[in-house]
Amino acid sequence: MVAHTDTAVAHTDTAVGNGVDAVVEKVCSDELPVHSLERELGDCARAVLVRREWLKRQPGVASAEAVGRVPHEGFDYDAVHGACAEMVFGYIPLPVGVAGPLLLNGKTYQVPLATVEGALIASTRRGCKAITAAGGASAAVLSQGMTRAPVIRFPSAIRAAAFAAWMHDPANLAVAQEQFATTTRFGRLTSCRVTVAGRYAYARFVCATGDAMGMNMVSKGVSAVLDFLSAGSFGDLELLGLSGNVCCDKKAAAVNWISGRGCSVVAEATIPGHVVESVLKTTVAAACELNVAKNLIGSAMAGALGGFNAHASNIVTALYLACGQDAAQNVESSQCITLLEPANGGADLHVSVTMPSIEVGTVGGGTILAPQRACLEMLGVAGAGQEAGSHARELATVVAGAVLAGELSLLAALSAGHLMRAHLAHNRKPAAP
Ligand code: ADP
Repeated sequence: MVAHTDTAVAHTDTAVGNGVDAVVEKVCSDELPVHSLERELGDCARAVLVRREWLKRQPGVASAEAVGRVPHEGFDYDAVHGACAEMVFGYIPLPVGVAGPLLLNGKTYQVPLATVEGALIASTRRGCKAITAAGGASAAVLSQGMTRAPVIRFPSAIRAAAFAAWMHDPANLAVAQEQFATTTRFGRLTSCRVTVAGRYAYARFVCATGDAMGMNMVSKGVSAVLDFLSAGSFGDLELLGLSGNVCCDKKAAAVNWISGRGCSVVAEATIPGHVVESVLKTTVAAACELNVAKNLIGSAMAGALGGFNAHASNIVTALYLACGQDAAQNVESSQCITLLEPANGGADLHVSVTMPSIEVGTVGGGTILAPQRACLEMLGVAGAGQEAGSHARELATVVAGAVLAGELSLLAALSAGHLMRAHLAHNRKPAAP
């Protein structure tokens, strides 16, 4: 711990004579902009040291001493700079644990999960154990495509309708595809659906983005298409925002639930009754009944949107944090319907998860950071796949497989609790009169 305190750093600073104090004075007197210290000093680690000292003196910091306890040493700030975060003054370490082995599509995975929720990894691991003992799970990618839907205003609703009609003509899609292709080697526009609301048009572009999650790539391509259209037949289009929320990024929305975003994945396993009883400590009937009552009826009564599951977001978020994904995309990536059904006349348990909008990438974004990349390497999906998008698709299947394990284990635990209470109630002798 001592190595991570500012005391240790101040000592190092003095020893090497970095002159941090003089720079801090300049930043505090506004001679040097605090947001561009990396560029000004040409040294990202030193910029962090200076920013910490500056921060300690700022209003809004209730404890300067606490700033000194946020770790900062031994981190690759060069990789972060200009790519992953700004105004960096340290880093937050998270424990990363492993759930596995998970046998999925004939391959064994050890799934890294970064979380501070105790029991989550242990529980997911128990689900992996049941799946693997059952001979494994299978998962398939139903579709893959990142979306961006700019909001465009026209002088009239009729012009918005004309734009929609133009975009929906397959011949014109080819024109848009050509423009999109000028911006990227990896991305390809595959379709576009326009939603009209009065004078506003929301063109939901769907794009193949290789192994990248693809938001940046799609945004660039869509800009090029709109520039082309506004210079031609739609000179009256007014681009109000490159994202008009029909995309729909990082908000719960039916459009992703119905049409998909990123990878749409289904995963399933059939768990023999004896494994349900020995590993999951419940019965096929109790687990199935709970799934209907909780994940289907309960979620319907709550008005859930894609939330027909027990805790998919727990596993999605922990896996995203470990693997350098955009954790905020857990909102739509966790949309999931979990189904449990009796199989083989009720002897065994069929379990599936269907997840229409798992947004993952194995290049770009946080995957460039060494620890996160190491977790992707553990899974065998770091970087570009042999076939365009194959690593991203495989990672999406691992997400679904791990969610399958997590769902199975939590549902089993809840239904086992019910069984236990029922058992105790039946065995309890009536109280003496
Ligand atoms: P995103 O588009 O996912 O938001 P980036 O802006 O980092 O994230 O885009 C990914 C970058 O990786 C792009 O610049 C793209 O050209 C590059 N790239 C390299 N290899 C691949 C690949 N196999 N698939 C997709 N993109 C790739």
